[in-house]
Amino acid sequence: MTITQAARPFVLCEAEVVRAERLSPSFVRVHLAAPELAEFGVDGPSYDQRLKLVFAADGAALPVLGQGEDWYAEWLALPAHERGHMRTYTVREVVGSGIDTRVVVDLVTHGTDGHGQAGPGSRWAAAAGVGSRVLLLGPRRGVTYGGIEFEPWPGAELLLAADETAVPAVAATLAQLPPDARGAAFLEVPCAADVQTLVHPEGVRVVWLPRDGRAVGALLHEAVLTHLGAGAAPLEVPEAEVEVGLWETPTYSSSGDPLDEHVTSVGHDLADLYAWIAGESRLVTGLRRALVRDLGMDRRQVAFMGYWREGVSMGA
Ligand SMILES: Cc1cc2nc3c(=O)[nH]c(=O)nc-3n(C[C@H](O)[C@H](O)[C@H](O)COP(=O)(O)OP(=O)(O)OC[C@H]3O[C@@H](n4cnc5c(N)ncnc54)[C@H](O)[C@@H]3O)c2cc1C
Repeated sequence: MTITQAARPFVLCEAEVVRAERLSPSFVRVHLAAPELAEFGVDGPSYDQRLKLVFAADGAALPVLGQGEDWYAEWLALPAHERGHMRTYTVREVVGSGIDTRVVVDLVTHGTDGHGQAGPGSRWAAAAGVGSRVLLLGPRRGVTYGGIEFEPWPGAELLLAADETAVPAVAATLAQLPPDARGAAFLEVPCAADVQTLVHPEGVRVVWLPRDGRAVGALLHEAVLTHLGAGAAPLEVPEAEVEVGLWETPTYSSSGDPLDEHVTSVGHDLADLYAWIAGESRLVTGLRRALVRDLGMDRRQVAFMGYWREGVSMGA
């Protein structure tokens, strides 16, 4: 593939796996390398920085993209078997420098054990080994790219809540917080063996919630509400009301809610709280309702992000 990197305000390249580790039953970590990654990164903490990976369609090669900035339209115009599958992931870590820069990504291998459905990202991860290849799109140092939603104000009490797909984002965020950060992180994972050792400030409590066959999000929902002193109401959102790709941040609302909406708090001292919540869309919809509608949290203090939806393929 020929790419004129200088023409683009982001890094888009074919990357090769130089190390693949099975972290636990549900996670595979890959270290991705490419000469173009020498330019990869952001100026400052990357926190929950997202990136895109494109996996080749079964039996096909990775797509070949041209040199223009409008690579996306070009990619969409390719026939499906040449286009492959684009999915969103998180920069878990960037290690090394120059042409030895490695972008580390932790991928969930859902459905590859015969339970549930495995998508192309999950299948690629489960089979990944040294030499596996993928297209990678992410930030270029020195250029504004976006894709970081974690934006608390200094001194905020933090509440991070994530299922397994957002564990990499929380892990990366915790590792980059200032030492005096305070708050709590609740992490729901498929089983106890998926619990990881994370680097985090002393003042941030990390609580792991192994699901062990329970419904996705049920434990996390209850744990967050209990943490806020709001009782342990179960996660109940009717199917028709789950918003796939729910995305509510202080600067964007996928549902079109007014961004300056402010509801007076109803008995809980939430004024100091910044909440970052990501994972399956029913879970995120339920927590959004509980925190914003029922507890009256200011929309400007929250980021709610549907990272995936049960039964729905997140194809671009
Ligand atoms: C900003 C952002 C950052 C993300 N970061 C990461 C990350 O670092 N690591 C990561 O693994 N994921 C991450 N995700 C989630 C990931 O993009 C989705 O899980 C995506 O659906 C995976 O693609 P796939 O090809 O494996 O499955 P798809 O083809 O999208 O879906 C196929 C089937 O699998 C189901 N499915 C998808 N994900 C899961 C799951 N986790 N458990 C059970 N069933 C599932 C779907 O509901 C569907 O039925 C992120 C998403 C966003 C929006």
